[in-house]
Amino acid sequence: MKPVSEIYGQLAGPARKVVITMHQKPDADAMGSSLGLANFLIQFGHQVTVISPTNWARWLNWMPGCDAVLNYEAEKEKASAALDEAEWLFCLDFNIFYRTKTMADHLKAMNCIKVLIDHHQEPDAPSFDYGVSDTRKSSTCEMVFDLITASGHGDKITLQVAECLYAGVVTDTGSFRFASVTEGVHRMVADLKAKGLDHATVHDNLFNNFLENRLRFIGHILLHRMEIFYEFNTALIAITKADLLRYQVKTGDTDGLVNFPQSIQGIKLVALVIDRDEERKWSFRSKGDFDCNTFARKYFNGGGHYNAAGGHSKESLNDTVARFKEVMRENYDLLQ
Ligand code: 5GP
Ligand code: MN
Repeated sequence: MKPVSEIYGQLAGPARKVVITMHQKPDADAMGSSLGLANFLIQFGHQVTVISPTNWARWLNWMPGCDAVLNYEAEKEKASAALDEAEWLFCLDFNIFYRTKTMADHLKAMNCIKVLIDHHQEPDAPSFDYGVSDTRKSSTCEMVFDLITASGHGDKITLQVAECLYAGVVTDTGSFRFASVTEGVHRMVADLKAKGLDHATVHDNLFNNFLENRLRFIGHILLHRMEIFYEFNTALIAITKADLLRYQVKTGDTDGLVNFPQSIQGIKLVALVIDRDEERKWSFRSKGDFDCNTFARKYFNGGGHYNAAGGHSKESLNDTVARFKEVMRENYDLLQ
C-alpha cells in the first residue's frame, strides 16, 4: 500500500467514477467520513456513489447526502453496477474486507484503484493500492479532514462537509472525552467552526433524536441484563432476541449502551453481547491497560482498537456468554 498522498495530485481531476464504502452497520464515523469525502469529491466533478454494506441507524439520515446512499443488501443490483464501473474505490473506517459482510467478495474481486482511510489496528494493507492507516487518529473523519487540508483543498470544506466530519469526530471520541483527542482534533473543530459549523444542531441530531422505546429498552437492560463481577472488575450485558422484539429495537438503538457500565467505580472491562439473527455480536470497552483488540481477536473472531473492540460468535447466546465468563477468569491478572 503506497501513501495516500500519492493521489493528492489527482483529486482535482480528471473526473472519475468513484465508490466510497464503509463497514457494515455504519456508525456516525463510518457514515460521516464517507459522506464528508463524497461531498468534497463531487465539487471536482467526480461521479461519486456511496454504498453501505447494510442498513444503518435512522438517526444518521440527517447527514447531507445520506438520502442517496445505497444499501448493498437491499439494492444489490444498483450497488453492484456502481462497483463494477468504479475507477476509484475508497474504503473508510474499516481495514479488512470481511467487515463489509456480503459485499466482501465483490470488493476483493474488483481491480480498480483501492484506497484505504482508517484508524483500526492491523490493516490488511496488501489489499489496497494507496492508503493511510493510523491508529493514533481519533476518527476516520479526522483523517478525511487531514486528507482535504494536506492536499491543499481546505477551501472545499463546505458546511455539508463540516457537518459530516464533525459528527464522526464527536461520536468516536465520546464527545471529546477519550485519550485519542489531541490538540489537532480541537484545531480541526476550530477550523470547522470558522467555516460556520453549527455544532449544537449536530449534537441534537445525534443524541436527541431517538424514540421513547429506546430509553425504556435501556432501562430494562440495565435493570435486568447487567451482571457485575467485582473480583474481575468486569461488567457483562447479554441482550436476548426477546428483548429486541419486546422494545422494537432497531439498528443503532443499541449503540452506546456498552458505555453505561463504565461509569461504575473500578470497572475495567465492559462486554456486551447481542443475540442477532445471524450471529452473536460482541462489543468490548476497557479503561487503562486492558487490550480489547487482542482480547476480541483471541477469543471472539474480532478486533478494533486498544480500548474499544468488537467480535462475533456463531454459538448460542448462552454458550458464548459461558465462554466469556471462562476467558474472563483466564484473564484475571490482566483485569486487576
Ligand atoms: P462496536 O463495539 O462499536 O461495534 O465496535 C468497536 C470497535 O471495534 C469499532 O471500531 C469496530 O470497527 C471494531 N469492531 C467491531 N466488531 C468487529 C469485528 O467483528 N471485527 C473487527 N476486526 N473489528 C470490529
Ligand atoms: Mn471510526
